[in-house]
Parts: sequence; structure tokens; C-alpha cells
Amino acid sequence: MALKDEVDQLKHEYRNNASTIRLALSYLTIIMVLSIAFSVVFYKTSIHALGRQIPPPSIYGEGFRTDGGGGVIGNGDGGFTTFFTQRYSEGRNDLLARLVLLNVLAFFIGSVISFYLARASLEPIEEAMEAQSRFSSDASHELRTPLTAIRTRNEVALRKPKLDATEAKQVIQSNLDEVIKLEMLSEGLLRLARQDGKPLELSAVGLDEIATEAINKVIEPAQAKNIVIDETVPKISVLADSASLAQAVKILLDNAIKYSSPKSKVFVSGYKKGKHGFLQVKDQGQGIKVADLPHIFDRFYRADHARTKKGENGYGLGLSIAQKIIEQHGGEITVKSIVDKGSTFTIKLTLS
Ligand code: ADP
Repeated sequence: MALKDEVDQLKHEYRNNASTIRLALSYLTIIMVLSIAFSVVFYKTSIHALGRQIPPPSIYGEGFRTDGGGGVIGNGDGGFTTFFTQRYSEGRNDLLARLVLLNVLAFFIGSVISFYLARASLEPIEEAMEAQSRFSSDASHELRTPLTAIRTRNEVALRKPKLDATEAKQVIQSNLDEVIKLEMLSEGLLRLARQDGKPLELSAVGLDEIATEAINKVIEPAQAKNIVIDETVPKISVLADSASLAQAVKILLDNAIKYSSPKSKVFVSGYKKGKHGFLQVKDQGQGIKVADLPHIFDRFYRADHARTKKGENGYGLGLSIAQKIIEQHGGEITVKSIVDKGSTFTIKLTLS
């Protein structure tokens, strides 16, 4: 880790600890205010009850008297006075000592509880903020790459004293390629942003119709690679938002085409099991390494083969968008893959 990263990490930890301590102190203040308030009320009522145990002078003569408010004023001339006064002040001191001890205990136990409560409250907020800042920095990094390419190419072209038509066309073409990439990226980012926290309106939708709709959208790239899409989805009705679900299936089909060799086949099938409907997209492509499998649904993650292969555009956003959509349906998306044999993506949804 670079020194700057380490310093940033330490600063970040310091900020997190400072907020935890601040929140823990607020919790502790609430606990202590309540504990002290209850102690004062308890002390007052107990002292009052203690004072009432002293018998009235009519029974034992004028050996003692009370102050009427629970306190005792001994006149010092009787045995009862001394006895009850002593009992009273012993009881009061004992009560006071217990209450003080109780509050000291409340302070220590309260400190520990407050700290854990503060950690538990702040952890999800910190995680969300971290994810947000990671997302922003990944997104700006991805945006910078095509922008730098456009800038460098244009600067080089401008520095040339003469630029013939062929060279100018080449520069324009590569600028256009980068602009298309930027469009794809901003589209993906927008889709992710729009999906955040937005509940979908689900209704009964046929998996077969969804499959047809998604396949229609990928016919062009499939034909360009001579890939045949074999669709055998039966009529299965699931609870879904048809536009979003078709978008998720299209992402899987796009990938199946992108990561398969020309003239291979992509299979789209479906089945029912228990209370669920399943839709599968299976390809005969290059497959995904075991080490990459746990990460392919992460934003901006691209396996080495995808990053290094030319012409396979993408920013590692497709599968995270598809997963978000399926999660919004209360469903699941899973993958099984064997390198050089192919991958199978399965979407699981509730039957309607
Ligand atoms: P993108 O395709 O834009 O790179 P995705 O989020 O759709 O991004 O996919 C993430 C990564 O998962 C891809 O870069 C690729 O490495 C891998 N992947 C996804 N689908 C397939 C597939 N059908 N076959 C092989 N690899 C795949």
C-alpha cells in the first residue's frame, strides 16, 4: 500500500472512531440522565417512607419530633429520639451509598453498551458511505480513460503541420469510438442510479414473452458473430416488471454473445420448480475462472480475458445492473461456469 493510501486509511479510521465516540457519549449521557433522575425520585420517595416509620409523639411522648417533610429533628432528650434518629440517618446513608454505587455501575455498564450501540448504528452508515465513495472513484476512473484517449489523439493530430483526409478520418473515427464507450458508461451509471432504492411494480408476466423481447434486442450482434439463439422457454407466469426483467435477460444474452466464439450457440430455456419460475441463458463460450466467479456481479469488475480482449466493449456494469433488477424482484441470479466450455446464468423468480 502506498504511503498516501496508508495515511488516508488512518485518517478514515480516526474519523470513524471519533464519530463512534461522539455517538457513544450521547447514548451514555441519555443513560446517565435517566439513571440519575430515577435515583433522585427513588431517594425522595424512600426517604419519605423512612420518615413515616417514626411513631407519633402521642405514643411515645415528646422524646422526638419530625420536621413534617420526612426529616427528623431530634430534641436530644429521649432514648427514642436517639434510636429513631440513628436508624433514620443510617438508613438514609445506606440508601445514598447504594444509589451512588448503582449510578457508578450504570456509568461503566452504560459506557460499554453505548459503545456497542454506537458501533452497531454507525457500521451500516459507514459501509454505505464507503460503497458510495468507491463507486464514485471507480466511475471517475472509468470516465477518465476514454477522455484521456480522446484528448491525446486530438493533441497529436493538432500538432501535425499537415493532416490529410485519411488521417483526419482516422482521428474522427477513434474519437467516435471513445464517445460511444462514454455513452455506454453513462447509460450504465444512470441505470444503476435510477434503480437505487426504487421499488418495482410487479405483475403477472410470461417468461416466454420476456425471452422473445430480449432476444429481439440482441439479434444484430448475434448475427454479426453468426451465433444462433435457441429459445425453448415454456409459458411460465412469474411476478415481474416486464421492461426491467427483459433488460436483465438482455444483459445476459449480450454477455453470452460477447464472450462466445463465432458460430456457437446460445440456449435460452425455462422451467418451474416449487413456487418458482426459472429462466436460463447458457452459452458455449470461454467460461469464467473460479477465481473470478465471486466478483463478476461487482460494479466495474471485468475478468482479465474481458479486459484484454479487443473489441469486447464493456465496463463491468452489466451484471451488477442485472443482479440489482432481479433483487428488486425478490429473486436470485446465479451462475455456473466451466472455462472453455461455457457459462449458464439462471434467474429465479416467484410464480404468479
Ligand atoms: P462487461 O461485460 O461489460 O465487462 P458485466 O458486468 O456484464 O460487464 O460482466 C462482468 C464480467 O463477467 C465480464 O467482464 C466477463 O469477464 C464476465 N462474464 C460475464 N458474462 C460472461 C459469459 N457469458 N461468459 C464469460 N464471461 C462472462
